[in-house]
Amino acid sequence: MIDLAHTPVTSVPGVGPKRAEELKKLEIESVADLLGYFPYRYDDFRVVDVAEAVHDTKVTLKGSIYGTPSIRWYGRKKSRLTARIDVNGVYVKVVWFNQAFLKKKMKTGETVVVSGKWDAHRLQLTADRTWFGQESEKHVGRLEPVYSVTSSLSVSWLRKTIYGAFAAFGREIEEVLPQKLRSRYRLLDRARAMYYLHFPKGREEGVQARRRMVYEELFLYELKLLWHRKQEKAADKGMTRRLDHEKLDRFIESLPFPLTGAQRRVVEEIVRDMADESRMNRLLQGDVGSGKTVVAAIALYANWLSGFQGAMMVPTEILAEQHLRSLKELLAPTGMNMILLTGGMKAKEKREALSQIQMGLADVVVGTHALIQEDVIYRSLGLVITDEQHRFGVRQRSKLREKGETPDVLHMTATPIPRTLAITAYGDMDVSVIDEMPAGRQPVETYWVKSDVWSRVVEFIGKVCRTGRQAYVICPLIEESEKSDLQNAQAVFEEIAEELAPIRVGLLHGRMSPAEKDEVMRSYAAKEIQILVSTTVVEVGVNVPNATVMVIYDADRFGLAQLHQLRGRVGRGGGQATCVLVADPRSETGIERMRVMCETTDGFEISQKDLELRGPGEFFGVKQSGLPEFKVADLLEDFKVLELARADAAEILEATDWEEAPEYRPLREYLDRFQKEQAKFD
Ligand code: ADP
Ligand code: MG
Repeated sequence: MIDLAHTPVTSVPGVGPKRAEELKKLEIESVADLLGYFPYRYDDFRVVDVAEAVHDTKVTLKGSIYGTPSIRWYGRKKSRLTARIDVNGVYVKVVWFNQAFLKKKMKTGETVVVSGKWDAHRLQLTADRTWFGQESEKHVGRLEPVYSVTSSLSVSWLRKTIYGAFAAFGREIEEVLPQKLRSRYRLLDRARAMYYLHFPKGREEGVQARRRMVYEELFLYELKLLWHRKQEKAADKGMTRRLDHEKLDRFIESLPFPLTGAQRRVVEEIVRDMADESRMNRLLQGDVGSGKTVVAAIALYANWLSGFQGAMMVPTEILAEQHLRSLKELLAPTGMNMILLTGGMKAKEKREALSQIQMGLADVVVGTHALIQEDVIYRSLGLVITDEQHRFGVRQRSKLREKGETPDVLHMTATPIPRTLAITAYGDMDVSVIDEMPAGRQPVETYWVKSDVWSRVVEFIGKVCRTGRQAYVICPLIEESEKSDLQNAQAVFEEIAEELAPIRVGLLHGRMSPAEKDEVMRSYAAKEIQILVSTTVVEVGVNVPNATVMVIYDADRFGLAQLHQLRGRVGRGGGQATCVLVADPRSETGIERMRVMCETTDGFEISQKDLELRGPGEFFGVKQSGLPEFKVADLLEDFKVLELARADAAEILEATDWEEAPEYRPLREYLDRFQKEQAKFD
């Protein structure tokens, strides 16, 4: 057999060096690349009867020329050619614009196939494709593939060339999927599926071909991921540590509240990973307010008991300070020394912190990106926790990981990623989920109002605050212009302060210095300020249990996940909490999004909806998602297949005869190639 992946595309008839250069721009270099360059749609040239032809759609008719065609000119270039054709006894008028040259080819009685827009009322077709006589035979009954091409390659050339490539090399296409899986799902064999995906005779063939290729794509992807992780686990011996389970249990017993079942479960998973000699790489997902902080505290304590330092990295300085406060509270009885490290610290404080870290006097360091700067040297880093991990790039994570020898890594996120996407985007991590809220939480009541009742919203805020509760008013960040963003929040702040005096109102925005921000947050937490008007800086993690009202101004400017995060800021301390979304959405989607927010407080449901309304690309934000791009598969449509494929890949990697069975040989070779490619980057 020929290895098509290493056969240059110039071996295909009709492809010379020049064409090969053009194809390279489409990332087609080998015969395998060419055969796998699938169309993005098909033109339907299947001939229909006049009776079946649907008004105002593209149809293809076959008939014979009747009578003499006539032509009319508009100036020298524009023309309108008309002819009548006989389609099984029905006379149809066909119109061609600016194709006067066709007239010469038209002889009475000649067979013609025309394709174009159909007007059922006038029995008239405006043709954009025409084939005569013999030529028409080839196109009858076809779905024609349409490819994306560069300007110097035509679709029809590419179509012909791919057709030729199948004629020359189609027999060499090797099956990769084991028979077992193909029969399990009744999948077409590879060569046939690839051919049909280019040149299907009908819908069903196309559907079956796609089904097979989607499965293959997702299966190979998952196989690669799982195999890679298995290799890493085997090679990546983390430190061995002795965990003091007795002390750990006693600490958990001493917490001010009993852990929820879900918290108990994830703590077990994390502790098991830490005790295990391979390195932990785990994602902890839990909705806002589900209690991730205490889980982090337990992990840091366990890590400390076994003699290591811990680090916790968060996106903002406010969050770093807040996390440090919460951790200090929870871990106070242990006597651990916890310090802060942020970019905004004074040089002297920073020097002091750095030396404590280096000498091992700091047991836990909480901070921002400053934690991974070159000048930070840890004495014995054993555990790294990142909060809101989706804000950290892969590179930053590994940079931090490299600071210690082989520290365990726990990523925490409050963005409830739909499971399917989680296993795809974070396929190399284990996933733990806190899917249970602490007892006694009441869901936040959510209302959507239009901006014309804004004054009543302000009244409502006042009423609640007079009972001693606190409120947030969030204004959107307008990215292009920090200025108008500030003005927006500023204006709202001034209006509320005036309307509701003497209730004290504070303002928080991105252009304040860390110290100023901290001062505002501190006075809000201390109840010196009752209403906090803010741009989105309070988005994650900030914890003021007495706050029961969340008003979000221009709510349609936020993503659903973000709205959910913001709403999670209230209702943390008992008492009925309310969220008011002020928005005048213009689109159907916008209205739908407001409805979703009012109807559910389940973060996973919301993110699933968000995903459906926006699509995976936007959902995750540009590129940083780490989501793979698939050629045939569509994550939204095909996520059920993804889950099956993952289970199948795991099953095969675990099979006792994985290493030697002939039916797995193509898969082993595939992984071999993958490994060689990886090695190139190391
Ligand atoms: P998040 O997952 O959003 O980080 P936090 O860890 O900030 O949530 O917890 C939210 C609140 O719930 C905190 O005030 C915390 O003390 C409280 N909490 C956490 N776990 C429990 C529990 N098992 N029982 C009661 N309250 C809890
Ligand atoms: Mg948190």
